[in-house]
Amino acid sequence: MFAERRVQLIETMRALSDSSDADSSAAIFVSARETPRNSDVDYEFRQESTFYYLTGFDEPDTVILIRPGAEAPFIMFVRPHDPQMAIWVGARAGTDGALQHYGADEAYPIDELEARLPPLLAQVEHLYYTLGSDDEVDTLVSEHVANRRQQAQRGGPRLADLRDPGPILEQMRLLKSESEVASLTRAIAITGHGFDAAFRLTRPGLHEYEVQAALEAEFRRLGSPRNGYPSIVAAAHDSCILHYTTNRKQIHDGDLLLIDAGAEVDYYTADVTRTWPANGRFTPEQRAVYDIVLEAERAGIAASQPGAHFDHPHNAAVRILTQGLVDLKILEGDIDALIEDDAYRPFYMHSTSHWLGMDVHDVGRYRDSEDSVELIPGMCFTVEPGLYLSPDDENIPQPLRGIGIRIEDDILITADGHNNLSEHIPTDPDALESIVGSSQN
Ligand code: MG
Ligand code: MG
Repeated sequence: MFAERRVQLIETMRALSDSSDADSSAAIFVSARETPRNSDVDYEFRQESTFYYLTGFDEPDTVILIRPGAEAPFIMFVRPHDPQMAIWVGARAGTDGALQHYGADEAYPIDELEARLPPLLAQVEHLYYTLGSDDEVDTLVSEHVANRRQQAQRGGPRLADLRDPGPILEQMRLLKSESEVASLTRAIAITGHGFDAAFRLTRPGLHEYEVQAALEAEFRRLGSPRNGYPSIVAAAHDSCILHYTTNRKQIHDGDLLLIDAGAEVDYYTADVTRTWPANGRFTPEQRAVYDIVLEAERAGIAASQPGAHFDHPHNAAVRILTQGLVDLKILEGDIDALIEDDAYRPFYMHSTSHWLGMDVHDVGRYRDSEDSVELIPGMCFTVEPGLYLSPDDENIPQPLRGIGIRIEDDILITADGHNNLSEHIPTDPDALESIVGSSQN
């Protein structure tokens, strides 16, 4: 799988080469580094997504070089074996592991990168590297560019340009293969088990973190090594705060609880949101807002079709939300005019969808110059409308203030429509009422 992706990258680099020699390019990619947290503790390491996508290698301080047509097209610079470190933190793959298990044609200790890079790049015309991805490698690359410029003056091979490989990789990552969809499906299945535990546990008197613990215990128990992003567990009016992650409050009778969470599996993450009543019964006002958001979500999902455009689910959701805001007497006027004026914005301030994959907000363009991109099979994104009725907005009828609701599912575009990968996690309000708090019974 990783080797196939490198071949696909090499073919694209060859196709983009404008010289007679289609093998005159090389690409450099850098792993994530370890980040100190405090004292002798680092933040939990997670490989940079594109680096993992191309290598399957999850160690820091690694650089790879990809050279189409070279005798050794895939070279890895890795942390060498270190018997002392092996005792403390475990064995590294080392250069042997890079050759035996990760498909490298050649492998060297990372300390040799500075000395080995210039001769390896000496004949390269098009150098692919994302400037800004790593300070140390940025310096090596800019030194190389400067040296080549000097050498070209004396008749050396010319380095024509420095290119960003980002757009090539983004386009590759945007279209999910069968194995990527399988990983996403597994991440979403585990996330569903977490939500199920959270639904059943929820009751007034608990704290947000207690429900979070039940949710994430399922994630870990079922093999997800980490979340794709910090869980949002927001009771009452904090559900109006889009990225609330404090998760320390007590949950009270009459509160809504909003959870936005995703387990990560094989570097792919789910991104699911559900909102439910803490005591198992929506108030009439909560239910009225919930029904609008659910209808908007269903309209957005229905608009997710091959041949449609990325904006279509958003437009479909905004129409329902705007109509709903009029029905709730928060807005008044002609629906088309209200949409034209973005009148919904104070109550729905984010967009309906984002790409989903290795990153929760995954790579890929949303617009081609004028229009939003066309949806094609293999694209995966969220549909997540919401309404956030601020507790402090005096223009909102009092009983509705402080209600924040978001419903989010993960959608895969298929040849004949779409597949809602998170459909099994209930959104139906009656189904939620019957399950919430059921673990006490
Ligand atoms: Mg989310
Ligand atoms: Mg999302």
